This record gives sequence, structure tokens and C-alpha cells, in this order.
Amino acid sequence: MHIRKNDNVVAISGRNAGGGKTGKVLQVLPAKRTAIVEGFSIVKKAMRKTQDNPQGGIGQKESPVAMSNLQIYCPNCKKGVRTRHVKEAGNTVRKCRKCGHLFTA
Ligand SMILES: [Zn+2]
Repeated sequence: MHIRKNDNVVAISGRNAGGGKTGKVLQVLPAKRTAIVEGFSIVKKAMRKTQDNPQGGIGQKESPVAMSNLQIYCPNCKKGVRTRHVKEAGNTVRKCRKCGHLFTA
């Protein structure tokens, strides 16, 4: 998987693309090849009236985004980039193919 939890990512296609919007990966769902990204694919959801939320109304919730639509955001290139895996001090880390930035998180 090229995307991991807590990565900053950008959408390269789909309805989140454009504008260079970045978001943090909240959850990766490998079986479905999707990820939940903070602020991406917000869907409005009607909320039932509950004790916690006596007004009911409209809530907002992230829906999963296809991983193939996401690229990791490189802070040097200031855009989504492709990475390669390299061994660094015994760990496999991802490296920006353009500038060599290491994603060590
Ligand atoms: Zn880079």
C-alpha cells in the first residue's frame, strides 16, 4: 500500500481533485483499496434525533476514497508525488521519486 494512516495526501482524480487540497489519512481500508481522508468526500448525512443530538439535523461524514485516486503529498515538491521504497537503517521507507524526500512517518 502506498498510502498509510496519518499520511498527507492529495486527490489526483475524482471529485476531490483540483485545487491542491490536502488531507490527512484517518484510516486505510486495504481490503477495499480505499482510505478515509480528513475533509475529503464529505457526505451529508441526516442525523436522527438522539439524546446527544436532540435537534437532529444534518451531519457531515467522510466517505472512503479509492486509493488509486490518492498520492502522498511531498512538502518539497508541494504536490502529490509517486514514491519508491528504499531501505534506510533497516526500515523500508518511501522516497519521493522527484526530489528524494524521505517519508519516515
Ligand atoms: Zn518531492
